Amino acid sequence: MKTGQTVVLASLLCKTYQMGDLKVEALRDANLKVEKGKFTVVNGPSGSGKTTLLNIIGGIDKPTSGKIVVFGHDLSAKNEDFLANFRCHRVGFVFQFYNLVSTLTVAENVAFPMEWTRKSENQVEKRVEELLELVGLQHRVEHFPFQLSGGEQQRVAFARALANNPPLLLVDEPTGNLDTKTSLRIIEILQKLKGDGKTIIVVTHDERIFELADQKLYLKDGELVSLDE
Ligand code: ADP
Ligand code: MG
Repeated sequence: MKTGQTVVLASLLCKTYQMGDLKVEALRDANLKVEKGKFTVVNGPSGSGKTTLLNIIGGIDKPTSGKIVVFGHDLSAKNEDFLANFRCHRVGFVFQFYNLVSTLTVAENVAFPMEWTRKSENQVEKRVEELLELVGLQHRVEHFPFQLSGGEQQRVAFARALANNPPLLLVDEPTGNLDTKTSLRIIEILQKLKGDGKTIIVVTHDERIFELADQKLYLKDGELVSLDE
């Protein structure tokens, strides 16, 4: 495999949270390699460091030690300006609890990441339409998050994550708070994005999402182990 095809390369990643005398080792020598266009699932018990891992890959958080290289960039060596631009254009984040802005409409939430781009108002409007159609919520543009169900809010979160067409998607327990039927819509979206060639990392316990995976990993004592035979 050519090295140019590697999207995420993490080696000996450690993350320790220090709170007073209490030290929590969330990640301990975690290694990870994700190739372009591949679908990776990460599983593991609550508190095992799954969200921490996604945050480090997405440039939201920095490791205590170890190396994290994404699209060839060593993220620990980068300044905040670089990381802000990286988060805006290269990665789409779908958070576990949607994290929509409650005072903005659905359309405004989806348009939000485009504020830092050079798109015209017209282009933004067209893109919002396109994204809401993709997640099947074109009829809800003017609604506010509180007027939507959990599953609908999660679909808006996907639309927002895709706004700037990022090649890498980081998705944190997307069906964890949804019932089986509602989850199906989310799984369909993941399937479609996989078909579009996105590189996707999903933290999940959902067996149906496991079925989409090219690589299955488990976080055990802060380390990533393969679940593939
Ligand atoms: P998961 O997503 O697998 O449930 P997290 O990555 O959220 O796990 O957390 C891993 C561990 O790190 C947990 O013990 C959690 O309490 C701790 N942790 C996470 N974020 C912080 C933080 N900002 N400050 C202190 N401890 C944290
Ligand atoms: Mg988590």
